[in-house]
Amino acid sequence: MTTIANLIAGRHVPAASGRTIQVHEPATGIPHALAPDSDARDADAAVEAARDAFPAWAATPAAERSRLLLRLADLVETNLEPLARAESIDTGKPIALARAVDIPRAAANLRFFATAVLHTAGETYDSDGGGVPGALPAINYTLRRPRGPAGCISPWNLPLYLFTWKIAPALATGNTVVAKPSEVTPSTAAMLGSLSVEAGLPPGVLNIVHGTGPSAGAPIVEHPAVPTITFTGSTAVGRRLGETCGRMLKRVSLELGGKNPFILFDDADPDEAAGWAARAAFTNQGQICLCGSRLVVHESVADRVVSRLIGHARAFVIGDPLDPATTFGAITSKAQLDKVTSMVDEARRLGGRVLTGGRPVDPAALPQRCRGGWFYEPTVIDGLDPACRVEQEEIFGPVVTVQRFRDEGHAVQLANATPYGLAASVFTRDVSRAHRVAAALDVGIVWINTWMSRDLRTPFGGTKQSGVGREGGTEALRFFTEPKNVCVRL
Ligand code: NAD
Repeated sequence: MTTIANLIAGRHVPAASGRTIQVHEPATGIPHALAPDSDARDADAAVEAARDAFPAWAATPAAERSRLLLRLADLVETNLEPLARAESIDTGKPIALARAVDIPRAAANLRFFATAVLHTAGETYDSDGGGVPGALPAINYTLRRPRGPAGCISPWNLPLYLFTWKIAPALATGNTVVAKPSEVTPSTAAMLGSLSVEAGLPPGVLNIVHGTGPSAGAPIVEHPAVPTITFTGSTAVGRRLGETCGRMLKRVSLELGGKNPFILFDDADPDEAAGWAARAAFTNQGQICLCGSRLVVHESVADRVVSRLIGHARAFVIGDPLDPATTFGAITSKAQLDKVTSMVDEARRLGGRVLTGGRPVDPAALPQRCRGGWFYEPTVIDGLDPACRVEQEEIFGPVVTVQRFRDEGHAVQLANATPYGLAASVFTRDVSRAHRVAAALDVGIVWINTWMSRDLRTPFGGTKQSGVGREGGTEALRFFTEPKNVCVRL
């Protein structure tokens, strides 16, 4: 059993209470680590460390902050194998995926923001007064300064990937950080904490507090010395955090759930698009906020596409996530497995036809080591009313529903008809239609003829219940800095 510690002021320490939380391996259902069960005392100590470290870190030249973060990125890459293994054990994701995506992307996040801060341009306004009374000729320029300790709260589905997505821009712009990774998957964040010490990050610059949301997360959000909160997680928790931040007038970024449409027109190559639809629905066992969980397909090609999708769903290699040949692993928590199971049961009650999957994986089909694990089959459901709960709520598991459309207007209407607005994919060969539909979709991110293709410079985030604000590129650099306009009369 591994014992995980908090990182506060550069020191690895247990929770003040001495209590721990068991961390389970989803592939076996067996606890494999103990994480600190932190509370307000630990959060307060971390915020104090972040506050103490802030003036010196903010005054450190950007080039030096960049150098330290680049060193941390190098260490992430050097430790790719242990990090990928830890991520796979914590989450149940195939180790091949952690090796190819999660850990390299964590290093890329650090590198991207470490170098972005070396290439930012400022804003100036050459004001001629314009004849407006009181407006004299002047030069305006805008200073951007770090804001102080930033609270960074992240979920369990892409643990290190999303943890670094938050801490990298915060640190690169000169803020200090109090981060709380998910209590379900704390291992790689803890490892990153140790690597940050090795990289030479000064004590107190990056603090990591482990524990549950209500006990360890809420005191960070409510702390008056933390003016900036960035949160990725569920809509329900995001709403609560937003209320606190509103009351305390904090700056907050909320990256929340999704119910993303994967729209497939009859002019797209149905076979190629069905392959993409399977990837969009089932990568990471469907536990990605960007997953295409509703296949919105033209009625004339629907049967062919759905039969290809079923073929792909059945072709996944379900097995031990630590086996490099596995392409489909475990559901990350028992609670999440229960949620997926109950949503599919509800789909059946509502008259949905389960075309493939629809139940936990038979333990006899799994390797001996994994027979107590939390596995669910890739599932395709047809025939539900688009207004029903299963079509409206995020399931966050390996379940895709099929919705058929008559024409372009109907496709857009179905795509927009949920409370969420994170992402959408559109498959078509018609360039004009691609642009038209992209403009009509009420989402933050549209992919044309692809899915989850990410350029870290682009704005990332959603509309409606999928969140408030944008992360990524310039948006993140602006979020973590306070603008101050200086007007110099000429
Ligand atoms: P969650 O909301 O349960 O937890 C997210 C984090 O918030 C965890 O670290 C948790 O401990 C913490 N937390 C919980 N209650 C809190 C409180 N009262 N105060 C402070 N912190 C609290 O979400 P989850 O189940 O870990 O993650 C799955 C969800 O995340 C899904 O809805 C998914 O769509 C969403 N998600 C969104 C994005 C995005 O970029 N939009 C990316 C990944 C995941």
